[in-house]
Amino acid sequence: MKSYEQLFIDGRWVTPVKKATFETVDPSTEQVIAKVASATAEDVDLAVKAARRAFDEGPWPRMSGADRAAVLRRIGKGIRDRIQELGEIEVRDNGKPLPEALWDLGDAAGCFEYYAGLAEELDVSAETSITLSDDRFSSVARKEPVGVAGAIIPWNFPMLMAAWKVAPALAAGCTMVLKPSELTPLTALELADIAAEADLPPGVLNVVTGLGEDAGAPLSEHPGIDKLAFTGSVPTGCRIMQAAARDIKNISLELGGKSPFIVFDDSDIDAAVEWIMFGIFWNQGEVCSATSRVLVQRGIYERLIGRLKEETQKITVGNGLQENVLLGPLVSKGQYDKVLGAVERGVSGGARLVVGGGRPSHLDKGFFMEPVVFADVPADSWVWNEEIFGPVVCIRPFDDEDEAVRSANDSRFGLAAAVMSRDSERCERVARALRAGIVWINCSQPTFTEAPWGGYKQSGIGRELGEWGLNNYLETKQITRYDSDKPWGWYIK
Ligand code: NAD
Repeated sequence: MKSYEQLFIDGRWVTPVKKATFETVDPSTEQVIAKVASATAEDVDLAVKAARRAFDEGPWPRMSGADRAAVLRRIGKGIRDRIQELGEIEVRDNGKPLPEALWDLGDAAGCFEYYAGLAEELDVSAETSITLSDDRFSSVARKEPVGVAGAIIPWNFPMLMAAWKVAPALAAGCTMVLKPSELTPLTALELADIAAEADLPPGVLNVVTGLGEDAGAPLSEHPGIDKLAFTGSVPTGCRIMQAAARDIKNISLELGGKSPFIVFDDSDIDAAVEWIMFGIFWNQGEVCSATSRVLVQRGIYERLIGRLKEETQKITVGNGLQENVLLGPLVSKGQYDKVLGAVERGVSGGARLVVGGGRPSHLDKGFFMEPVVFADVPADSWVWNEEIFGPVVCIRPFDDEDEAVRSANDSRFGLAAAVMSRDSERCERVARALRAGIVWINCSQPTFTEAPWGGYKQSGIGRELGEWGLNNYLETKQITRYDSDKPWGWYIK
């Protein structure tokens, strides 16, 4: 594999000031796959200064939206042209099955193409005139790029999370410093190459790989950053918010979840089982919006759990590069231990372990586990309330709609929720009553670049994707003009 020991700053590959590296590990083999540049505060400072120069003096924010769109489209094409190679890198870095990695990469390319369209629209929509109550004045509202953005992203969808931030920021005319997760840094470095090949001007996108404390914290504290966009855990989000508070940086946060899935007893059981499984087992359950708390109406409770057990046992666990694997390893030893610890906590907390939790017998290396179904999970137990971020589904029965909605909303998180029933009026009613930023009816997880993404409560602040994602990177300025020939009249009468 090629060397990843340099950072991408000001359009060039540079060795980190302290020449430090860290290792990234293939979670299927536990082998080191690459040494990666480990940035510190000095490197972050260079990257922010490059982004600052590119914003304050460079062409990017001053170009037309159409010209920026052309570059974004070339980035999208660059991803598509190398999709197989990037997919394999993503699998080796993160562990996810190759079809899911290819799916992410197609979405990432689509995200650049979508925001190219919005960049073009900005040429006509950036300025709107405002009708004022005093006709001596005229006013327009102008959307302008917010400035230099810092983006800090997690490891579960490495390239896709980068795209969700880089594409709208660049479309808006911002410049950016991107810090990927130290667990999955490789595709962000590939993205830097793709952006350079797409003729993105130097300094517009800078990629600094490094540890959270060494590179993430200095980025979140840097006074040269105007906007911080973060996706990750609640505790880190809290630290980012504190850092941003020091100089009132504009922030958006996409944090964790413990999303409920309500299944009414008129549902088709096989369809419910498939969506429940997809909702918690795709991407190894390492999904912020995973529907990890399932509420099943009592009439079908035991039947559904029986079918879910049968189907869960059929899941092929293995190296994501092998065919027919549905569940890869967890991303790291740390995450593996955390999830196995949560399974023990589930059992000791009184949940019924229906299936899973062991190491698949054919796999003696790698952070692999059998997917877990817990039933009769006590409502006050740790596993019912906390994000596990692994292939572990917790299930409880309910009797009526009110109880289901109350239980679903009884959480400090509010990222996503799902409801399933053949009664469409009931689905609509429940969807409106759920306190979550994303609600799925008769499905769980499908995500569209055009639709807003983000959470209520401790699941975050702001929305990504769609026009909402673009607005994250725009400021609104009013320009008001005095059109009258007459004196204003404060002292000249
Ligand atoms: P994390 O918070 O540990 O790390 C996220 C990023 O923050 C990494 O790049 C890390 O290096 C960096 N970081 C760590 N400490 C930092 C600090 N002090 N200052 C600045 N940056 C720091 O999260 P993770 O384990 O990578 O990701 C899992 C979490 O992300 C889960 O809670 C999940 O729900 C959440 N997530 C949310 C969404 C969403 O859209 N809401 C999407 C994906 C993941």
